[in-house]
Amino acid sequence: MSHVVVIGAGQAGSSLVVKLRNQGFDGQITLIGEEKAPPYQRPPLSKKYLLGEMDLERLYLKPESFYAENEINLRTGETVSALDVYKGTITVSGEELKYDHLVFTTGSKLRYLPASIGGDLDGVYGVRGLTDVDAMEPEFAEGKHVLVIGGGYIGLEAAAVASAKGLKVTLVEMADRILQRVACSQTSYYFRALHRSKGVNIIEGVGLDHLIGDDGRVVGAKLSDGTEMDIDFAIVGVGILPNIDVAEDAGVEIDNGIATDAYGCTSFSNIWAAGDCASFPYKGERIRLESVPNAIDQAEIVAENIMGAKKPYVAKPWFWSDQYDVKLQIAGLNTGYDDVVTRQGDKDSTVSFWYYKGDQLLAVDAMNDPRGYMIGKRVIEAGKTIDKAAVADPDADLKSFM
Ligand SMILES: Cc1cc2nc3c(=O)[nH]c(=O)nc-3n(C[C@H](O)[C@H](O)[C@H](O)COP(=O)(O)OP(=O)(O)OC[C@H]3O[C@@H](n4cnc5c(N)ncnc54)[C@H](O)[C@@H]3O)c2cc1C
Repeated sequence: MSHVVVIGAGQAGSSLVVKLRNQGFDGQITLIGEEKAPPYQRPPLSKKYLLGEMDLERLYLKPESFYAENEINLRTGETVSALDVYKGTITVSGEELKYDHLVFTTGSKLRYLPASIGGDLDGVYGVRGLTDVDAMEPEFAEGKHVLVIGGGYIGLEAAAVASAKGLKVTLVEMADRILQRVACSQTSYYFRALHRSKGVNIIEGVGLDHLIGDDGRVVGAKLSDGTEMDIDFAIVGVGILPNIDVAEDAGVEIDNGIATDAYGCTSFSNIWAAGDCASFPYKGERIRLESVPNAIDQAEIVAENIMGAKKPYVAKPWFWSDQYDVKLQIAGLNTGYDDVVTRQGDKDSTVSFWYYKGDQLLAVDAMNDPRGYMIGKRVIEAGKTIDKAAVADPDADLKSFM
């Protein structure tokens, strides 16, 4: 009987084992995760769960009983430390386990601030897993001052929650503008204005010099422009790195993540990868996506391919972020854009930014505009485009371009 071993019990790992069983796979399945909790969704960690509007059980992707009921051997709280590709074994909690197919769904890890600038002080938190958020949550008391380091989506979402809970919030971003790595200046402007309207102090073009500690606990921060401030705690949102160590040490090919072909297969024919940790071919390039839809879709394709389907993974990138009462939905990838067209909705907060390369639509950032998002998504996925003048005209019906 064939044995599929999956390393990483997160979004991709869970989707993969569910799909295997749904497809009728009747071999042995082992799903191993180093976190104690059963597989859960991460997006609410910086949104509703942190706000206290979502219970723990609702985070779980499946009820805890699901795995045993479906003969999936879920081993949580265990770390895979080594892989021997020639023996076909992994090492988990000191035990050697044989596999026929092995899948890496190991996700990402936080970039931490170095200890030399105070990254190891108490009161300095990252936002990756349940334990991070559970440790940080008691700090969210009205009137406290939190410094958020990094103006990407996670930092901005944490800032929004802190502000909604009545904290004093300062967010510092080293680049010239928040969201610089991922979005156009119009989207940065929109979210800067939104946060400032809620009283968040957004400081751009200034880095953190170091955190100031007192008796091992963070009490202040000095910025690169010399500003000093007292703070009660800090949240670090300076990006993530793919978890590749076990694969890399075993000689699996790495290229901005665990490198796979279009089928999700790595440089070894019975070793696969999916989700945040995997890089894969996309429109002549190799990319890695850090999003729930990618984790699910790619993992499901790998499950089918383990069963012999030979289906290529055709990524349809989309993403979302919730901040205050604004829902941002992003369709497509904006890499290489040379123009951005604005489409204003009937309310001030409803607007979308459409990224073009020449006349080709690449991506859409839609704020409180699910209709614009949906039309953009369908057009992009069909490889079509929309006339720029029509996008800019709020009265033009874009449905005809679908
Ligand atoms: C706070 C937060 C908010 C987010 N918001 C959004 C959002 O709004 N929209 C969106 O699309 N995406 C969002 N994301 C990103 C999304 O959650 C990830 O892209 C997704 O979880 C990736 O799934 P994955 O299975 O690849 O990795 P993960 O879900 O991270 O799972 C990987 C698992 O592997 C485990 N692991 C790693 N190494 C080992 C090992 N050696 N042995 C055993 N286990 C191991 C890890 O502990 C982890 O549990 C957010 C992420 C975070 C942290």
